[in-house]
Amino acid sequence: MLDICALRADTPACQTVLHFNNAGAALMPTPVFNAVTNHLTLEQNIGGYEAARATQEDQAAFYTEFAALLNADPDEIAYAENATRAWDMAFYGLPLNPGDRILTHASDYVSNMLALLQQAQRRGLHIDLVPSNASGQIDIAALEALITPRTRLISLTHVPTQGGLINPAVEVGRIAKKYGLIYLLDACQSVGQLALNVRTVGCDILSGTGRKFLRGPRGTGFLYVRKGFLDQIDPPFIDLHSATWTGPGTYTLDPTAKRFENWESFVAGRIGLMQAVRYARQIGLENIELRISMLASALRFALGSTPGITLHDQGAQKCGIITFTKQGEDPEQIRARLHKSQINVSTTQRSSALIDFDARGITSLVRASVHYYNTEAEIGRFVDVLSG
Ligand SMILES: *Cc1c(COP(=O)(O)O)cnc(C)c1O
Repeated sequence: MLDICALRADTPACQTVLHFNNAGAALMPTPVFNAVTNHLTLEQNIGGYEAARATQEDQAAFYTEFAALLNADPDEIAYAENATRAWDMAFYGLPLNPGDRILTHASDYVSNMLALLQQAQRRGLHIDLVPSNASGQIDIAALEALITPRTRLISLTHVPTQGGLINPAVEVGRIAKKYGLIYLLDACQSVGQLALNVRTVGCDILSGTGRKFLRGPRGTGFLYVRKGFLDQIDPPFIDLHSATWTGPGTYTLDPTAKRFENWESFVAGRIGLMQAVRYARQIGLENIELRISMLASALRFALGSTPGITLHDQGAQKCGIITFTKQGEDPEQIRARLHKSQINVSTTQRSSALIDFDARGITSLVRASVHYYNTEAEIGRFVDVLSG
């Protein structure tokens, strides 16, 4: 059992705000906040290069903590400034040729879709949209049926930003393996919320951000690339950190996933994100997943029995992101009204989920996302204020 009181004591804002915006940016626990600010203080006091040298152990722990979190090898982990750039560093370097086909689903993240569209136009690639099954998640049989000899890549978002569904990442991994396809998984909303294991999922590439369910600082992210797949990606940008200048006309890439990193980065953020992973692992990802699932069910149940509220979450298996609309009140109005009562939620607009929202006839949704440090009492208060 989790000691919720202790976890909330580690999260001072729990006393002043009701934070259901964990899919936007979760509240940082004190050890994460301290890790960031202590490093900044060190930089102020002794100098940035000197502070980096003094904290080499914490920086190295970034790779071992993420490796343990994902069941990966430290050499398969890279730091990135956000999830989008992490994803880009892999995607833009993939060996794709004119005529190659990419499989994706309406739940894929907007920025991934934009990159797919740009590269399809530039490089003559084709995008095949895999239909949803009756529950709204990627249809595995349809996925398999769409594979052609020119299909190279499956791009999937594990948990979409715009709803509570959990895509069947493991089943997709089995199909990718069976047909020898590259499997790129956006785990931005699942990492820190669900227990993830890259070997079980079978993805070649996985990206995530620091600020969401991992509770790290903003402006941080990470990339996982499977060891046996590293050499198939030619990073779109390289520098003196990701590559070595070996002669006047030659260079070599870093043999590890560090080939996707920049030399200059937010060192305090990197240490903060390491601390966030360590903190999550101390609580235990299975415990976190179970607690979030329990709170999400309670919130869906409470909203489901509130007059005027319509829930919009799809998927056979649902997570801690709860989306809804309310009769007679616009999602953005709801967000602003709740904010006045110290309740944080976010909204998702059509421009962030175009194909998905159009298919469901939705223009915008309220998104309430719970974390393990939330409580049933908060759910009660939330529904009271929401009903006005
Ligand atoms: C938030 C989000 C991203 C983008 O993450 P950044 O760190 O802001 O780049 C990507 N994919 C999904 C599913 C997200 O929810």
